[in-house]
Amino acid sequence: MHYLSTRGDATARKFCDILLEGLAPDGGLYLPERYPQVNAAELARLRKVHAEQGYAALAFEILSLYIDDIPSADLRAICDKTYTAQVFGTREIVPLKPLEPGLFLLGLSNGPTLAFKDMAMQLLGHLFEYELGRRGEELNILGATSGDTGSAAEYAMRGKRGIRVFMLSPHGRMSPFQQAQMFSLQDANIHNIAIEGVFDDCQDIVKAVSNDLAFKARYRIGTVNSINWARLLAQVVYYFAGYFQATSDRVEAGGGPLPQPSPQRGEGAARVSFTVPSGNFGNVCAGHVARMMGLPVEHLVVATNENDVLDEFFRTGVYRVRAAADTRETSSPSMDISKASNFERFVFDLLGRDGAATRRLFAEQLPGQGFFDLSGDARFAQAAARYGFRSGRSTHADRLATIREVHARCGVTIDTHTADGVKVAREHLDGKPMLVLETALPIKFAQTITEALGHPPERPAQFVGIEDLPKRVSVLPAEVAGVKAAIAAQVSV
Ligand SMILES: *Cc1c(COP(=O)(O)O)cnc(C)c1O
Repeated sequence: MHYLSTRGDATARKFCDILLEGLAPDGGLYLPERYPQVNAAELARLRKVHAEQGYAALAFEILSLYIDDIPSADLRAICDKTYTAQVFGTREIVPLKPLEPGLFLLGLSNGPTLAFKDMAMQLLGHLFEYELGRRGEELNILGATSGDTGSAAEYAMRGKRGIRVFMLSPHGRMSPFQQAQMFSLQDANIHNIAIEGVFDDCQDIVKAVSNDLAFKARYRIGTVNSINWARLLAQVVYYFAGYFQATSDRVEAGGGPLPQPSPQRGEGAARVSFTVPSGNFGNVCAGHVARMMGLPVEHLVVATNENDVLDEFFRTGVYRVRAAADTRETSSPSMDISKASNFERFVFDLLGRDGAATRRLFAEQLPGQGFFDLSGDARFAQAAARYGFRSGRSTHADRLATIREVHARCGVTIDTHTADGVKVAREHLDGKPMLVLETALPIKFAQTITEALGHPPERPAQFVGIEDLPKRVSVLPAEVAGVKAAIAAQVSV
């Protein structure tokens, strides 16, 4: 399997060549040259693997379709190390929870930081350590975070050989719980840097350091952002695991130990739909990849909050990025985006994988006029008809109402992002099992839960008293030089 860029660069690259890279050199995003096809017989085999050997074995099977430059035994060992009940809390790894008939939550948030980003980031940590070890290289990951991504990266990379993390966050602006999650890590390779400024200052510093190519090369600076193909690939696996659980006899019969195939029905006959609380379009893009592989998915419903760049596109065909000033701070903050950094991957497929056309949209029209308009393009209609996309948006009031209603009717407390998903899913029920991806646990957003329910959410046992743990963080002014010096002090060249 080779990888190509969405902007036309077709230099043949293998998985491990792009693993440690961000954007392709032409500014595009990497995609596999084709989507491996899973027919009914293969789907039945994967269902059996999942039922008999579990999530890690399923992950190995799916990853093997895309990765042929890691020996099988090694890749299997990496999957086995990553997806354990110890790290993800349950044997199912992504348990399916019924809310009401036909509506389910797919639990993706039981990893170390209680958000779905752990699903991919934990795998990335093991893949990075493996590949850097093979090459005899080191990597210094520099990132900016306002919460979820930074902590997922730190928990994935802590203690890994050959890797250091330098994570910038806005001083005093994360919630006490988020600060405690990150700053309580005592691992020697994790460096928290609180910047005296806002999140944009942190991001500007990361950009400035990365644009200093000499510094970047000398100190082997890398990133772990959501455009990394390996992260997206890891997320494809849970669409399969969700499908198998939702279409097993166990769900239909309402009990039993593990998902089993349904022998009286042909494999692939059952279809399901997914609703995905979305920001950068990484999570739902993995659903698109699963569907392109042949997973029987009816609809992929994109749920946004007030920052509705994606909903606007799927409704109108106009993709209009927002200025920083027009990006709202909401109570589902991990979806507060001004542009969706993975969206280019879907547009590339929509345009029949025409790299030159994709380049014109993303490298010329978007920077030039701030939007592009596909409403007059016959292929835009295919976004819904051929690729199954639907969309909707949710507001703070919707979030509160949904959290309250799901708590009252189903006895389940959901987080604010998942609430956006449930609200939009209900508007798109299509007679197929609807799986809403649960992207975080409510404890991370306790303030809004309290606003909705009048009491804070339950705190998982391992997080009791986390705010009282000793903190490991240095506070620096919002200046590039100081951050560079902090990196240089840790890295020998
Ligand atoms: C990152 C995140 C999202 C958005 O996912 P994308 O892949 O960026 O679309 C939604 N919910 C939570 C809790 C997140 O952390």
